[in-house]
Amino acid sequence: SAKAGGRGCYSIFGPHMDAMVRERAEIERDLRRALADCSQFRVLYQPKYFATTGKIGSVEALVRWHHPTRGLISPVYFVPIAEEGGLIRELGRYVLEEACRAAANWPIENIAVNVSAVQLRDNGFAMEVMTILGESGLAPHKLEIEVTETAWMDDSENCAANIRALRAVGINIALDDFGTGFSTFGRLHETEVDHIKIDKMFIDGLGKDRGDEAIVQAIIELARAKGLKTTAEGVETAEQNEFLTRIGCDELQGFLYAEPMSGEEVGTLLKGLDGKGPRLAIV
Ligand code: C2E
Ligand code: MG
Ligand code: MG
Ligand code: MG
Repeated sequence: SAKAGGRGCYSIFGPHMDAMVRERAEIERDLRRALADCSQFRVLYQPKYFATTGKIGSVEALVRWHHPTRGLISPVYFVPIAEEGGLIRELGRYVLEEACRAAANWPIENIAVNVSAVQLRDNGFAMEVMTILGESGLAPHKLEIEVTETAWMDDSENCAANIRALRAVGINIALDDFGTGFSTFGRLHETEVDHIKIDKMFIDGLGKDRGDEAIVQAIIELARAKGLKTTAEGVETAEQNEFLTRIGCDELQGFLYAEPMSGEEVGTLLKGLDGKGPRLAIV
């Protein structure tokens, strides 16, 4: 650790930390500029398949940033910078507009869009979503908002009000990365949510770790008892697919079935023009 390094840690971490702080400031500046016309961003879509039929039920929108000199930057890195730099509202609006417009003509149950807790805290958020739906022509019940557990830990009145307003018009709410937060399990009874996405961390252990298998099974039973839909995220092996199908997980998503792809590729997949059809061969 840094402390164990004693005096030496200054020379090791000092310049390194400096470089990191500088890089972050540059990224934030570039992000602000990129948001002026959004041409460096793309939205990709990753299908989610019904376990019982193998059909595509939904797709999840995932943002990408092609930086002119740094190349492709992961949202894991730049979304938190956007949040802290006050830029997530603009970025979020771009993703919602793109996704709703793309999905308006897709024959799927819904399109899922990731939304940050910072966006949910904004008291104009629900209104903004309604406006975007109106402009794109997407019906409210065809939009799902994915929120991570930490957003639920936020006891801001605005978050709760936004979620209630969104659900009131038929928009679904999914709890993303379920199981990684601290106390959502205990608070699920008071949580306004329609759908649970089980975090990849637990899916990774299926077929290897009895503890993870028990957790996934418990989450699915709990969800079923509460009438919530379940999706497993990050499915990569046939063994995980087999386990999840057997215990009755509703939807499956992961590189085993499909990686995030362009809107055009989704259109092709849904039309069955790639020869495979919209059904999943593996199920
Ligand atoms: P997430 O919402 O939990 O999305 C799942 C992530 O896992 C995606 O990474 C997806 O590409 C990746 N993934 C899917 N299946 C597999 C698999 O089988 N194996 C592995 N190793 N990975 C898989 P991505 O696109 O890099 O996004 C990472 C995170 O960034 C997302 O996690 C989400 O929290 C955030 N994010 C992405 N797009 C947006 C956005 O438009 N808005 C906000 N607020 N956050 C976003
Ligand atoms: Mg997600
Ligand atoms: Mg997730
Ligand atoms: Mg995740």
